[in-house]
Amino acid sequence: MSAGGEPGGAGLFSREYPLARERFRAAGARAGLEVRSHPVPVSVPGVELTVDVAVGGARDARRALLVTSGLHGVEGFMGSAQQLAFLERLAVDPSLGRDLRLVFVHALNPFGFHMQRRTDERNVDLNRNFLLDSEEYRGVPEAYWDIQRLLGLSAATPARGLFPVNLLRCLTRHGQATTRDAVAGGQYEDPAGLFFGGRGLSLTGELLKAHLRGWVGEAQEVLHVDLHSGLGARGGYRLILEHDWETPQLRWFAHRFGEGRVEPSEPERGISYRKRGSLGPWCAQLLKPRAYDILIAEFGTYPIALVLLALRAENRAWLLKRDGLGRRLATAALREVFAPRGHRWREAVVYRGLELLLRAADVCRAEGVPTSRPRAVA
Ligand SMILES: [Zn+2]
Repeated sequence: MSAGGEPGGAGLFSREYPLARERFRAAGARAGLEVRSHPVPVSVPGVELTVDVAVGGARDARRALLVTSGLHGVEGFMGSAQQLAFLERLAVDPSLGRDLRLVFVHALNPFGFHMQRRTDERNVDLNRNFLLDSEEYRGVPEAYWDIQRLLGLSAATPARGLFPVNLLRCLTRHGQATTRDAVAGGQYEDPAGLFFGGRGLSLTGELLKAHLRGWVGEAQEVLHVDLHSGLGARGGYRLILEHDWETPQLRWFAHRFGEGRVEPSEPERGISYRKRGSLGPWCAQLLKPRAYDILIAEFGTYPIALVLLALRAENRAWLLKRDGLGRRLATAALREVFAPRGHRWREAVVYRGLELLLRAADVCRAEGVPTSRPRAVA
């Protein structure tokens, strides 16, 4: 059960991408799911990169639970462990798949997972890459260039001065919400910068376009849980929704997943920020006319400033092609802020991740997704 050697949930964390994938495939097969491997045409030495999918459950189910992880490469270490926990439970309790189509997607960004980066092979943040048909891959958030320069967010411009002083300067000059949006909201003009959304749809996007509808099958309602790490209080989790405060949909999820647990993707009162190109609305468009909704689960690790510093250092080390110790340290620091080694953190996120996925399966089986309510009433 724990090839990593550690007992319990922490043992479900794998040391590297190929091992995580092997364990996912084996656990999917043990749970009675069909495992498919989709190659990604990016060459890296020593391993063929694939997006792996375990599909199963009730063949004619009206509702599907879709669980994805590793959209942000290195965050896949945690998402992979949480998926393993669910698949192991499913293997001993097949009733978890009753009346449900189950779709588990391992490593949506296998390049980032394998290289221990957050972005893909083009330095693209995939959760900023999914622009809708009506949107263009252009533009930057308000005050981006000033904040990028002050905080040294791009490998193309050297970081100057002390980070805390410059951060304070950003906050006084632009306010917290604008600063957060500018840093992480997604930008399409600065390929050497953080949170770059790309110039066009990514390979992952093309792969989803080709296969997502097939994975979901006959299901007419899809509840999607997308697993992430790095935002929020250490060891806890929040569910970020694509709905505003006080909407019926947000109330619906709060009632089922916990008050204080759910929040919209906006910076005023929560841990998140307004962003362009996130996965959910794009999947909703692709899966039409099915009813679809997404919970972006964010598991907390370290304070946000430390996460940002690690991202910045690793982006520089990678893009400036630094070799040797500096690069290895930057990679190790990035991995630590998205998949901490601490035993207690690992135990906590596997336990809570499993709890979340079990809850999502129950809710999906019993009620589907809230966007289907008005239709069902009509
Ligand atoms: Zn993420």
